Amino acid sequence: MIIAMTSDATEEQIEEVCESIRRYGYTPHLIRGEERVVIGAVGQGDNKDHLQNLRSVPGVADVVPILQPYKIVSRELKQQKTIVRAGDLEIGGRQFIVMAGPCSVETREQLMETADAVKAAGAHVLRGGAYKPRTSPYDFQGLEVEGLKLLAEARERTGLKVITEVVTTEDAGIVAEYSDILQVGARNMQNFALLKRLGRCNRPVLLKRGMSSTIKELLLSAEYIASHGNDQIILCERGIRTFETATRNTLDLAAVPLLNELSHLPVVVDPSHATGRRSLVRPASKAAVAIGADGLIIEVHPRPQEAWSDGPQSLTPAGFAEIMAELQKYVALESRYLN
Ligand code: PEP
Ligand code: MN
Repeated sequence: MIIAMTSDATEEQIEEVCESIRRYGYTPHLIRGEERVVIGAVGQGDNKDHLQNLRSVPGVADVVPILQPYKIVSRELKQQKTIVRAGDLEIGGRQFIVMAGPCSVETREQLMETADAVKAAGAHVLRGGAYKPRTSPYDFQGLEVEGLKLLAEARERTGLKVITEVVTTEDAGIVAEYSDILQVGARNMQNFALLKRLGRCNRPVLLKRGMSSTIKELLLSAEYIASHGNDQIILCERGIRTFETATRNTLDLAAVPLLNELSHLPVVVDPSHATGRRSLVRPASKAAVAIGADGLIIEVHPRPQEAWSDGPQSLTPAGFAEIMAELQKYVALESRYLN
């Protein structure tokens, strides 16, 4: 339920409404807009009629139901776009954010070389998996804590923010200690225990769309994180599984404007996993900018042919620099900027 306050509602009136919402068994979510405060009452309270009755309370302008099954992350509750903050970096604002780096952190040399290259090309965030969810148990599973330490060293060296995947609830604490943004992989989009755990953590979360997940399921997964206390969420379209096998996944570009309609959360595109082919990363990146994405997450490796994972879709540093240079004009057309 959305409780819209009048534009002259006092702080006491706002607090009283929040108190009533709690008393009825719901959780209040306060959204301070430019003109007025809106309070979302979410959860499984005892009686929706109680909330309706708030209509007659001083300072309340209106009480309306939220029609979508996801509440806190929906545009119905919050009209203005959410800006996710990782330190001084803003995702969802006018700056178009590019995250780049290897699929996996492999060695110190590999990571530092990549970090220097993507920094020089204008990336804002260094990506790199330290915990890898691999299809085969015999494939490289990641350097784990050693990988996290290398990412932290690369951050010190370049000033880039760091994003890395968290695979289990047990690792959430240590990954949050080292990383600026926590990535939930496609395979874990509906790992509800993990989502709840990340709801209680004070780091932004990049939530990847599951490979067979609907938009509604993606937004309900985001709602798990938000309803457990963390509304700093970035949605990521990374391709879905379809009958087509020519590309690794099928990039659902329409998901980007649709997510922007349905939710106030920033949306980024992963053209690397969406296509699985180095040659398609560039056109897919341009399309992502044009269709309204807030950023990209791209795999880059100094020697893709030697990569321990996802070599065929990884760009060389030179290829990445070319894309970054070309993206400038596409980003400007969207009234945004890169650097
Ligand atoms: C990755 O980013 O390397 C990764 C495993 O991505 P996804 O979860 O989208 O498959
Ligand atoms: Mn990968």
